[in-house]
Amino acid sequence: MGLPFFVYNLFMKNLIEKAKVERILQKSEIVQILEDSSINEYLFKTADSVRKKYVGDEIYLRALIEFSNICRCNCAYCGIRCDNKKVQRYRLKKDEIIDLSNLASKLGYKTLVLQSGEDCFFKADYLAEIVKEIKKNDIAVTLSIGERFFEEYKILKEAGADRFLLRIETTDENLYKKMHPGMSLDNRKKCLYNLKQLGYETGTGSLIGLPDQTLESIASDILFYKELNADMIGIGPLITHPDTPLKDFPNGNLILALKVLALTRLFLPDINIPATTAMETLNPNGRIMALQAGANVVMPNITLEECKKNYQIYPGKVAVDYTKLEKDLEKIGRKISFKKGFRSDNQI
Ligand code: SAH
Repeated sequence: MGLPFFVYNLFMKNLIEKAKVERILQKSEIVQILEDSSINEYLFKTADSVRKKYVGDEIYLRALIEFSNICRCNCAYCGIRCDNKKVQRYRLKKDEIIDLSNLASKLGYKTLVLQSGEDCFFKADYLAEIVKEIKKNDIAVTLSIGERFFEEYKILKEAGADRFLLRIETTDENLYKKMHPGMSLDNRKKCLYNLKQLGYETGTGSLIGLPDQTLESIASDILFYKELNADMIGIGPLITHPDTPLKDFPNGNLILALKVLALTRLFLPDINIPATTAMETLNPNGRIMALQAGANVVMPNITLEECKKNYQIYPGKVAVDYTKLEKDLEKIGRKISFKKGFRSDNQI
């Protein structure tokens, strides 16, 4: 016979309190929380209170521009992997990127995220020119362009880029290899440490629901965020794309993704955590659920429609409806911020 439920429940709540106070748990303790569905609400509420205490009620907005869907990588889950010949490829011109950035700035955005496939056309020097031009506006620039050499990251930092997003995707070595042909977990980690060293606010994160991904490996992912001292963490449930090798696999589990988000908030209380589009795509209320489980960032996509339709890293990507977002936020006592929203802006 196991423990009576109330004793067990008390034990689990204590574990969550311990995570909140100590900002770390053992891997086995993280797994216990991830596998127990009876404490989900308690976990979300605790993460929400930590979010409120450390980063407040304001939501930072990040305007996303998907400037090229050309990619040399072949990630098993990704709709714009190079082997997917059904994708109509595009690459914005320098002026188009700058025009969109100016528009974002005019619209009041204080952060711009430039995302693309791993498109070698954009050499560091060329991208640096673009970044310099964009930085003439009073706007923070985040890059999300994949793996590059230290020297390239350095050129871009010196051009004025403030932040960089590079998800580790999974810290499970075997799974990493299977999902990313020709790539290595070691190099991904090296890139992240290089970015940190160069002074970028560095973002990483994982995909939740990859085939054969274990709770142990997800727990290791969370410990990796802590070890890196990541400044931003993006967690997304996998959404399987019909034109990829993962087409017959189920989607990731939203609740599990939210639990990973919540635990991340407990371990790294002052960082920035987006309510990701993949969460909203799986559930019409996913974004609000995330904002009530530790998230404090939303990333509206301002890419032009004709490009957006070709940047299908997964199917059914939903957009942010600004008016609806404002209303939804009001309902949960939150409001949009007009600050750049660096980690260092968050009070600790
Ligand atoms: N080339 C850049 C940008 C990748 S796209 C880079 O390598 O960092 C941004 C993120 O989308 C990826 O890090 C991945 O976690 C996520 N993504 C890709 N395919 C997905 C899918 N099928 N479902 C959910 N998220 C996905």
